Formats: sequence, C-alpha cells, structure tokens
Amino acid sequence: MAQASTPSAVTGTTHKWVFPFEEGSADMRDLLGGKGAGCAGMTRAGLPVPPGFTITTEACVAYYSAGQQFPPGMWEQTLAALEAVEKKTGKKLGDPADPLLVSVRSGARVSMPGMMDTVLNLGLNDRSVEGLARLTDNRRFAYDAYRRFIQMFGRIVQDIAPEAFDEVFEAAKTRAGAKQDTDLGAEQLKKIVAEFKQVVRRQTGRDFPADPLDQLSQAIEAVFRSWMGKRAVDYRRAEKISDEWGTAVNVQAMVFGNMGFDSGTGVAFTRDPTTGQKQLYGNFLANAQGEDVVAGIRNAEPIAAMRDHNPGVYAEFERIAAQLERAYRDMQDLEFTVERGKLYMLQTRSGKRTGRSAVKIARDMVAEGILSVDEALLRVEPRHVEQLLLPRFDEQAKAAAESAGRLIAKGVPASPGAAVGEAVLDPDRAEERARAGARVVLVRPETSPDDFHGMIGSQGILTSRGGTSSHAAVVARGLGKPCIVGAETVRVDLARRVFSVDGRQVAEGELISIDGGSGEVLLGEVTTVEPNFAEDEDLQQVLRWADERRRLGVWANADRARDATKARELGAQGIGLCRTEHMFEEAERLPFVRQMILNAAPAKRDPEARKEYLAALEKLLGYQREDFKSLLKAMDGRPVIIRLLDPPLHEFLPKYEDLLVEVTEMRARGQGGPELSEREELLRAVAVMREANPMLGLRGCRLGLLYPEINEMQVRAILEAAVELKKQGHDPQPEIMIPLVGDVRELRRVKEQLVKTAETVTGQAGADVHYKFGTMIEIPRAALTADMIAQEAEFFSFGTNDLTQTVYGFSRDDAEGKFLGFYQDEKLLPNNPFQVLDAEGVGKLVEMGVQLGRKTRPDLEIGICGEHGGDPESVAFCHGAGLNYVSASPYRVPIARLAAAQAAIRGESNTASRESATPE
Ligand code: ADP
Ligand code: MG
Ligand code: MG
Repeated sequence: MAQASTPSAVTGTTHKWVFPFEEGSADMRDLLGGKGAGCAGMTRAGLPVPPGFTITTEACVAYYSAGQQFPPGMWEQTLAALEAVEKKTGKKLGDPADPLLVSVRSGARVSMPGMMDTVLNLGLNDRSVEGLARLTDNRRFAYDAYRRFIQMFGRIVQDIAPEAFDEVFEAAKTRAGAKQDTDLGAEQLKKIVAEFKQVVRRQTGRDFPADPLDQLSQAIEAVFRSWMGKRAVDYRRAEKISDEWGTAVNVQAMVFGNMGFDSGTGVAFTRDPTTGQKQLYGNFLANAQGEDVVAGIRNAEPIAAMRDHNPGVYAEFERIAAQLERAYRDMQDLEFTVERGKLYMLQTRSGKRTGRSAVKIARDMVAEGILSVDEALLRVEPRHVEQLLLPRFDEQAKAAAESAGRLIAKGVPASPGAAVGEAVLDPDRAEERARAGARVVLVRPETSPDDFHGMIGSQGILTSRGGTSSHAAVVARGLGKPCIVGAETVRVDLARRVFSVDGRQVAEGELISIDGGSGEVLLGEVTTVEPNFAEDEDLQQVLRWADERRRLGVWANADRARDATKARELGAQGIGLCRTEHMFEEAERLPFVRQMILNAAPAKRDPEARKEYLAALEKLLGYQREDFKSLLKAMDGRPVIIRLLDPPLHEFLPKYEDLLVEVTEMRARGQGGPELSEREELLRAVAVMREANPMLGLRGCRLGLLYPEINEMQVRAILEAAVELKKQGHDPQPEIMIPLVGDVRELRRVKEQLVKTAETVTGQAGADVHYKFGTMIEIPRAALTADMIAQEAEFFSFGTNDLTQTVYGFSRDDAEGKFLGFYQDEKLLPNNPFQVLDAEGVGKLVEMGVQLGRKTRPDLEIGICGEHGGDPESVAFCHGAGLNYVSASPYRVPIARLAAAQAAIRGESNTASRESATPE
C-alpha cells in the first residue's frame, strides 16, 4: 500500500493535492479533471451535489514520478477533506452507528475509455452494514449495497474476473428460486456477501479489506494505476493525448437511488445529441443505483417518464439542466440520482454529438443569445461538417439491421460515409462488376497500388489488415470513398471466393453495408440517406458565418466541369488545380496521346514522325479546347488554374514489363508479321523512355522544355476556349500553371515561348482575355529561390504533395505502403505528413517561399493545392503563413471554409491574449 509517511509528509508539505468541491471551479479542468471540475462548478453554483473532494491530476503524475507512491502530504490532505465531508453529512466513514459511504470516481481532463470504473458504496464492512440497515430500516437494501460493493471493489480494484462473482450470484438465485436480483431477500444477500468474501480470499490470498480507510487508499491507488492501463494508453496514442496529464480521483458521499420507488437514477443530455432538438434526452430508472442504467439490468425509461414518477423533481431537474447549459454555454451531458424524492446532481460535462446536432445547436445557441457567432463557429468541428456531406445510414434502418443481428464486424474507421454493395474480393472483378452497373464493396486482406482500378469502381472498401495510414485508407480518403481497415475478424478466402467472420460465411456477390465513420460492417442492404447540402439550412447558416469570418479563400481541385460545378455548389471560389493529364487518360483520346508521345522525340530528326506528331497534337487540341471551355464556363467569373502536362510520358503507354512478356510470348509461339513488329517497335520506344526514378525524371516543366509543342497545344486550347467564351459574353479567368520548376531559368524559357502563343491567339481574335502565368512551388529549390521565381511567376501554388516528398526524400507510395505506419507507431512522426502539413520542415519552406515571393512581387497570388488544402490543421497553417487561398478536393471545400474561419478566430484571440499579456 502506498500511504507515504515520509518525514516531509508528517511535517506537512505545502503543496495542495486535494480540493474540496467548494474550493474548485468549473474552469479547473486540467487540475481537477472534467468530472471534478464539473462537481466543483455545480457546487459553487449552489446546485444539490453530494459533498466530496477531488485529488488532483498532479497527484497522479507525482504518484508515478515517486515510483508509484502517494506524494508526501496527499494522504493527510485526503483524510482532512474526508473529515470535512463527514462533518457536512453528519456521518462517519465506517461508523457502525451512522456510516458514511462514498463513491470513488476517476476523471481525466477529457473523458477517456479505459479509465477505472466508479466504485460505489465504499465504507461498508460487517459492522457498518448493520448500521446502514438500522438507519434505513431496510436490511435488504443494506446487504444489497454491501454485496454490490464487494463485487465492484473485487472486479475494479482487485482485478478479479467478474465471472467469479457472477457464478456465486447466479447459483444463489437458483437456490432461492429468484428470477430477478430484486427477488432476493436480506438473508440471502447476506449469505452472498459471505460467499463473495470467500471469492476474494481465494483469488487474492487475503481477506477483503474491512478497514474503510484501507478500502479508500486502495481504490485511489487503483484509479492512478488505471491511467497507465493498456486500454487507456492505447486510446491516448490514437487520440494523440499526452501521457503526462494524469487522472484525478473524486471521492464523494453516496446518495441512493435504490431506496424505493420515490428514488431512482438517470442520465440526460440537455438537447438531443443526434438531432440537436432542444429537449431533454435521456433515460431514467426508478429504484436503481448508478450502474443499473448502463448495465441494462432493467429497461430504463425515457427521461420524460420521471415527470410521472415525480413531477416536482422533474421540474427541478429541467430547471437545473437549463441553468447548467447557460452556465457552460454548451449542451451538457448530465448524471443524477434521486434519493427519496430529493434530486442530486452527480455530473455535468459537454456532451458528445453528431454533426447534425452540432450545427443545429451552434445555430440555435446564437439565436438564443447564448453564444456569439465566433464561439458557435468554434463549437462545430470540421469532422462534423464532413459527416453532413456524406451519405449515411438511415438511423431506423440501421437500428433494425442491428437488432436483427446483421452487424457482423467492426474495424478501424478510415474514411467516413456509408456504402452498400456486393462484396467483391478482387479488383479486376470489382472493376468488371462496376462497369456492368453493379454497386460493389471491395473486400481485401489489404490493398496495394495494383488494386487501384478496383477501388475506383467500388462504393466502399473493407480490409482486414492495416491502420489509418495504410494504402487502402489513404487512397479511399483521396477518392472520398467510405473505407474500413483492420477489421481483424474478417477472413478473406480468395480461393473459395468467400469471406468469413467469426465462423459466418459471406459469399462473393452478397450485399454488405459499411459505415466508414464508425467502422461497422453489416450484412445485407441498409438504406442510406444522401445529404442535401443546398437545403441543409443549419449547415448553410454556419458556413455563411464562416465565410464572413475567414480571410483565406477556398478553392477546389477539379479536373472536369462536372467536378467544378459540384465544387462551386459547395462554395469554391476558384479552381486551384486542374490536372490536364486526367483529360489525356480518356479511352478515345489515348491513341492520339500515344501517337504524340511516340513521335515526340523522333520528330526532331524525322519529318515523317514530325507529321505524325503534329497531327496527334492537332487532334488533342480539339479535345482540350472543349475540356477547357466547359471547365471555364462552369467557373465563369472565377479563377481557374490549369496545370500543363506534368507526369512522365510513359505513364500513358503500356508497361515495359507487360510488353516484354507479350513480345516474348509472341516470339515463342512463332507469331510474326506486322503485329509482332508493331509490338516490338512499341517495346523499343518504351525501353528508351524507361527511367530509374520517374518521380524525379523527365516530367513537369522539363517536358515542355524538351517538347515545347505539347505545352503550346495546351496553352492554345486554353486561350481559344477563353476567347470563344468571352465572345459569348462570359468571363473566363484562366491561369496557366507551369509545374515542377526548380530554377527561374526553366520557368523563363517555358514562359517566353508560351506568352508568344497566348498573344498570338488573343491577338488574332482581338479578344481581351485576362490570363496569368504562374508556377507550382513543389521543389525545395523553388521555395529557396522564390524571389527569383517571382520575377516570372504571377502566382505561386504550393504543391505540397511533391514538396513533402522532396523535402523528406520519401516517395509517397513507398512510404505509405512500407514504413509510414511504423514511423507513426514509433512516434518518429507525429502525423502522416501527406495528410497533415509538416509545419516544421515543409512549412518552413512555404513561409520562406511566401516571404521571398512577395518581396519581388507584393501582389503575388499564393495558394496551396496539395491534399493538405482540405485538412483543418494545415488550413490553419496556411492562414498563419499568409496565403491567399487553399484549394481542396470539392467535397472538402465546406470543411476548409469552416477551418479557415476557425483559424482566423483563433489567430485573433491569440494575438489579443499576447497583447493583453504584455506589461504596460
Ligand atoms: P462514468 O465516468 O462512467 O460516467 P461516474 O463516476 O460518473 O462514471 O459514475 C457512474 C455512475 O455512478 C453515476 O452516473 C452515478 O449514477 C453513480 N454514482 C457515482 N457517484 C455516486 C454517488 N456519490 N452517489 C450515487 N451514485 C453515484
Ligand atoms: Mg458519469
Ligand atoms: Mg507535383
């Protein structure tokens, strides 16, 4: 036991480890934990809270640094605080005549699964139980409380398996012919107590502690120990919560909800946590003690039922709930107990809520004058907005499926949204089924780049292995598809084309439903509901407020008019990145793309090849002009950044290895003729174009330098499209982006030539089209020399995907597939830097690029178009770095709008607090 009695403890150290509820306050969360601060706040507000005290989170930290010993002075302060509680209640812990009983409750800064469960009725022993019986005139109640206490203490503090007690209890019930717990009488319960004590002796080798102070110190120590329990540690890792916080311990006089039908216990939210409706939402259970509500021993009634049991108490509770909500200025999650018609509050904290509820509550609370607009904006979390943009299960349909036992597995939620489709076990078949119009959920042990084509066609992805930065997770998030990873109970048997879960078989082709936000896998179809963004008034209001508040623009990455229109609906103010290569990939164009590529190099010497080359370009010009016309039209009046062709050209050709196999086989079969020589020629061309490291090879602006005609074709297409639109009375605003520049000389050369093309097109047409030339900053050298780059560039767009790759020297596919998970587990990296912008390294280059660039060109337009543009933490960084806009994938635009507003609000309050902190 850890009752430290070092000399310093005896002489009394001055450090305060223990706070009676009336000495604490609601804002002392860090020191007192959420529960302690809540009880202190309610006590201070004059609400009925059973007296008690909190042992601080600091004491827990000190307990560990002292090698698992109570810090000096803590136990003495605990005894003193206990004495004060005894005075207030007029009872004494362990007093056989009038015993005080207490609960011991854990409570960290944020509520956390894995922390110790509450121990109720502490202070009972063979003598005090008799006192309790006499005093309440209820022996049955007293022995029931005693047996519950031993059971809880044994399980929670002494780590005894609950079954050990359950067996004894069930046997006793059978012996007594009792159906329910409540059928057992006092004498039967007394016998159970004796048997429970034997269980403890057998399991721990010691008697159940009879001394209440001994019970108390053991319980306190168990709370401290639970801080480093596996579940709590795992949870903190996942949520990035520091191990240094520690947990507080609350010791509080018991009140009894199980003293008859004028007593009871309940939990309630001040507003509906699912819909946000302004009405009490929760459960009440008459004649019951705390754990009964949660344990579902009897069916709890809706909270309104309390009104019938006791209208006076219900009215008081309503009043208190409203008062707490006003005081905390947030929806509260309340716990309470009624003892013989008197209400006691046991807990208040901000309630967890769905996205739907979060936006409604934020909006309503502004209307009710509880919150300012800024506060309301900070209350809605980006993930709440995300939830509202995705298809989700119909609540009722899901509940029905669950109660029908169709919930078969739970994995790691990796990309939110709900999806329904046939389970398909390989990517080829997924692609094929999707082409045939089927809805498909791809089920794999894990995915790799080879699965990509199957993932695109699927509604959702489920894997049995991998974590939140596995290939499946990363790709699914990129595609905006629901995804569950690490569903370990799912066994995929490709040979038999089934997967099984806990012995249950699901054949390929059967319908399954997945929820990538919760990780749940259900058998069969669960009806989904599509979000209706335009008519979601609560969300629209919140986003309008966000727009008024943010300084950053929010643009979208979109390659096609369809995506641009969607992005615009979601609030995009421009297109930050249109990747033209996606236009090259369309099947009908691919032959011309190949014709262009295969003749590009030979065209320099061979006039025949040159003819072929130019013919292909001419053909592509037509396609691209239409592409750009529809894109610019969809974004009429807003900037559209179009990036010139960027990837290595061989990406558009068959793979070298595949061709080699093909040609070898043809030769082996003795197949000859024009077909073979055609393949051989292609193989030779592809062989010439092979690169050791394509990511760093012939791509980006280097393509345009070697083969200027490709860039010229694209610029011509862009401006011809713009001219046509302009003539039709539209307002196209193309911005031409030259990728992968590392040196201003590269940019200068490419631009010179393209400006000529642009001027020719607009000059000939006599149209006054406004356009810009700029560059992507995605090579460290470009950021380092941004002052020079800005001499040529009218805008910068930070391509933070490539910039992250080149700054870290990681190739993304290899990193995410092979070692990023390890890096994160080992805390070598706080985040996946491809998801959350690395502020320390990549961010430093961004800041440098902004400063240098604006030094040369003060009105330089600067944005970011990497995936980070849709990540709230990265958006906050971009705000701080002084960018003009972030560009995100369309469905993340509303998230970025909120995140940008939050960054602006937080940024101002930081500056304000810094200013007020400076001495006059
Ligand atoms: P959790 O963190 O799991 O909510 P709590 O410490 O709030 O745990 O305790 C759970 C339940 O135990 C409470 O909702 C309440 O019903 C009961 N409880 C806790 N302390 C007391 C007490 N002093 N008197 C009566 N019931 C209590
Ligand atoms: Mg609680
Ligand atoms: Mg790039």
